[in-house]
Amino acid sequence: MLSNSKYLALLLAISVSVITTLFLSLVPEIEITALLIAFILSFGSSYILSYLLIEYFIFSHIEQIYQRLNSLMEDNFSFASEEYPQRYWHNPIKRINAGLYRYAERKQREIEELKKAEAFRREFIADISHELKTPIFAAQGFVHTLLDGAVKDKNVRIKFLKKAAKSLDGLDRLVQDLLTISKMETGDIKMDFEHFNMYFLVLDVFDQFESKADKKSIKMSVSPSATHDIFVYADRQKILQVMLNLVSNAIKYKKEGEGEVVVGFKQHNDEIEISVKDNGMGIPEEHLGRIFERFYRVDKSRSKDRGGSGLGLSIVKHILERHHSHISAKSATGVGSEFVFRLKKGIPVHETRSQPEAG
Ligand code: ADP
Repeated sequence: MLSNSKYLALLLAISVSVITTLFLSLVPEIEITALLIAFILSFGSSYILSYLLIEYFIFSHIEQIYQRLNSLMEDNFSFASEEYPQRYWHNPIKRINAGLYRYAERKQREIEELKKAEAFRREFIADISHELKTPIFAAQGFVHTLLDGAVKDKNVRIKFLKKAAKSLDGLDRLVQDLLTISKMETGDIKMDFEHFNMYFLVLDVFDQFESKADKKSIKMSVSPSATHDIFVYADRQKILQVMLNLVSNAIKYKKEGEGEVVVGFKQHNDEIEISVKDNGMGIPEEHLGRIFERFYRVDKSRSKDRGGSGLGLSIVKHILERHHSHISAKSATGVGSEFVFRLKKGIPVHETRSQPEAG
């Protein structure tokens, strides 16, 4: 009975009016009609006041708490998106409400993060399956054709075996890239920082691409050309991978005619800015913000023809993040692209190279 605001108000009103009337009855020579009127007035006003007080200041909040608890029990955290006014926090009932609101808000955030991670996982599995399918199907096709009789023809045999080997090499590259990314993301990869000459590292990269660049009429150079001492403090192997990926892309995505790849160095206070610039086909503006995402390709078919896994720039980004650095890209279709990042300056170390010049 006491849980109902009407009964509670009635009880309070009776008590208040009886006490008021008793007090008034102590006044000498007071009339009974006056006492009756006082009783009715005090009863009416205290009933209305108590009812409003109990209903709007206590029960409505308890009802709200009950509804929120109910929502929480049903895993419905939608009320977390409501704004909860902090100015009422001196009121303990409202504090309970605010606590529930904050709890729901945290749960809501957790659920959204889980949903995002789940969507990301699904998308990643779909991407990997799609990427693995292509080389596996190709190699499988060649091997089956050989088994079905083509193996007897020596020319076809060699040709198909070479094609199968090429597909499997692509598969190997893809798996290696995936392993690198996964190690980067889990933090399992050990960083080995040292001081080294970045100029020599670039010459090593040019050496590796020399015949490819020659075949495609691409000239590779360093700017400014007189710079031979560019000491940085970084993980040499990982930065080698960064430069191999960037220079390889600059060569891969060239346009018709003579090509050019320039690795530039700029000195800053305690950093060296490194850029890889080409005059290739460029990247359309709408894709520029997404090229560092894994498996993102501007033109899927064209990139696959060129043997790209779509993971190169993603690996570059991860490696540079581990160096507390950031890579940015500028590009214009048909004009070329430029990738820029910075590394910490290193102290001069003595390094020797068998081939001092390249490009
Ligand atoms: P891929 O293995 O496909 O080359 P990357 O992650 O290295 O993957 O690059 C992502 C995409 O960005 C490529 O598919 C290509 O479309 C575009 N891209 C990267 N570098 C260049 C460049 N130097 N010139 C033009 N497009 C580029």
